[in-house]
Amino acid sequence: RVKNNGKGSTAFFDNSMEREALARMKIEQSLRLAILEKRFCCAFQAKVDIRTQEVKGIEALVRLRDDEGVIQAPGTFIDLAVELGLIDELTFLVLAEIVKSIDLINDTFGPTATISINVAAKQASNLEFMRRFARALDETGFPKRFMIEVTEDAFVTRSHFQDQILPILRGIGVGISIDDFGIGYSSLSALADITADEIKIDRSFITDIHQRPRSQGILRAIESLSEALGMTVIAEGIESYEELTYLQAATKIRYAQGYYFAKPIFLEDLKPATPVASEARASMAARPALEG
Ligand code: C2E
Ligand code: MG
Ligand code: MG
Ligand code: MG
Repeated sequence: RVKNNGKGSTAFFDNSMEREALARMKIEQSLRLAILEKRFCCAFQAKVDIRTQEVKGIEALVRLRDDEGVIQAPGTFIDLAVELGLIDELTFLVLAEIVKSIDLINDTFGPTATISINVAAKQASNLEFMRRFARALDETGFPKRFMIEVTEDAFVTRSHFQDQILPILRGIGVGISIDDFGIGYSSLSALADITADEIKIDRSFITDIHQRPRSQGILRAIESLSEALGMTVIAEGIESYEELTYLQAATKIRYAQGYYFAKPIFLEDLKPATPVASEARASMAARPALEG
């Protein structure tokens, strides 16, 4: 609806709404096209053992190459992909890329590293999709390497996830990870009913943890609960030595993921045995060992 300010031109906010709608149409179109043309790639980020620097697993983080060749982070398109019903196809593309690259993944991160795929909460509670996806995971021949990362919302909304989908995934040996824990809608009592293997503490609690007593308290609560429930805890978004030092000194948390250890990397950057590749590999593995 266009409002007129009476002087023959539209009001400022209407123009900005128009611009927004146009921008949205543009990204919607480029998303459809990108999926059609399979213009996606995955970056992989390591989950690291804080004590040994060993790679416990990796997480696939999808990127879109837009029509100008610019790589777009998922923040710009995942919600839209869910809304447009394109997310399932995207998830299968991610899996296909992993399967295609499994030798390189093994060479780079080791043959036992778990491989995590993010699944939107809406997908996670879609029985039909998850059945198909589980079958595809099984058909890779290495389903036990995979973990599904899903936000806590999938566990609380009334859905098939807990009673029907989890058993299917468990049945083929796929691990379950609760992503971004602490910022969603689940309560601690809801968590007690969840049977997940791993819980990832949201980055917002980890940022500057060494100087934020409230975050420290929340971390302690999540840690002891996870311990009681037998879930592995991962601290997301470690960016600084100070954050790491706090975790080591004040908690028993053993695994972390964050720019401090490793940024998401493209496997294609590693492919040729060039100095670039060995550099990237070295920077993954060769953080100086930490005291303590
Ligand atoms: P996520 O699963 O929580 O992934 C972690 C995000 O934090 C990634 O952003 C990662 O690059 C970023 N990150 C990791 N370490 C650090 C750090 O130390 N500092 C900061 N500031 N950021 C860090 P990315 O790749 O932009 O992905 C954003 C979100 O998009 C993901 O959050 C995930 O929810 C979603 N996503 C990514 N790939 C897929 C996919 O294939 N399917 C679905 N459904 N969602 C995906
Ligand atoms: Mg994730
Ligand atoms: Mg996360
Ligand atoms: Mg997130």
